[in-house]
Amino acid sequence: MGEANFVKTICGYCGTGCGLVLEVKDNRIMKIRGDKEAPVNKGQTCVKGAFAYEYVHSNNRLSNPLIRKAGILVESTWDEAYQFIADKLSGIRDTWGSNAISMFACARTTNESNYITQKFMRTVIGSNNIDGCNRT
Ligand code: SF4
Repeated sequence: MGEANFVKTICGYCGTGCGLVLEVKDNRIMKIRGDKEAPVNKGQTCVKGAFAYEYVHSNNRLSNPLIRKAGILVESTWDEAYQFIADKLSGIRDTWGSNAISMFACARTTNESNYITQKFMRTVIGSNNIDGCNRT
């Protein structure tokens, strides 16, 4: 077994944004503790931040995109999946207009991802129909 590495990151479970320190060994998370240097949580975490990380290594996680073809989910490449999404969104926009498309962003992703989401919607799709679960 290799040496443990300690990786600082931000918890993605909620918008509080607690600082975490991951103990990683052989590319697996072994343990998580709160980052005492993080101003938001000063070393504290809730139960999710500290213990809910087993899913990271689950074999049930999707590692490739799936596209439903004739009612069956079929594994595809990322290029094929992105093309499929682009074709569908373009088709809806061309047929029904930009306001027929909305995007639901997520509080569990980063500020940067949410920024890109709204930028994509406004500049590429041409719609202001953006919302997020952090508003509820
Ligand atoms: S540790 Fe808990 S409170 Fe902190 S960001 Fe994660 S989910 Fe939110």
